[in-house]
Amino acid sequence: MSYTIGKQKKIALIAHDNRKEALITWAKENKSTLRKHFLCGTGTTAKLISENVGLPIKAYKSGPLGGDEQIGAAIVNGEVDFMIFFWDPLTSQPHDPDVKALLRISVMYDIPVAMSKSTADFLMKSALLDEEYETHEIDYYDKIRKENF
Ligand code: PGA
Repeated sequence: MSYTIGKQKKIALIAHDNRKEALITWAKENKSTLRKHFLCGTGTTAKLISENVGLPIKAYKSGPLGGDEQIGAAIVNGEVDFMIFFWDPLTSQPHDPDVKALLRISVMYDIPVAMSKSTADFLMKSALLDEEYETHEIDYYDKIRKENF
């Protein structure tokens, strides 16, 4: 199974509270690149990006209120195909199960994900950023069929 990520990426931007400043700074540095793509984000992150970076961005619910789950569902539906997620490695989150679910879905659907500035920088400089790309989703149905039938 595969899915074609288009030339214009559908990028989700998410940052936990202690990482929001870093994401905003990064988004400012990469504004000219980001503006070529479609942006969305969890509620507070999206609001801050809109106000501080001046890019159009669709806002889902705030992360702790279900925004991570909405973005996970958007990945499943092909409405998000690229993610920059600056999560906080030093603070536990009330919605940790949602964070874990989102990270799991992003791997399941093989979308590009950056969780730190250096990876986000590498993704923005990738020759693939402005190209179409076929993802490589794991075919679990095929695996289950082979194991059981
Ligand atoms: P927020 O959510 O952008 O609404 O703060 C981020 C998160 O905690 O996942």
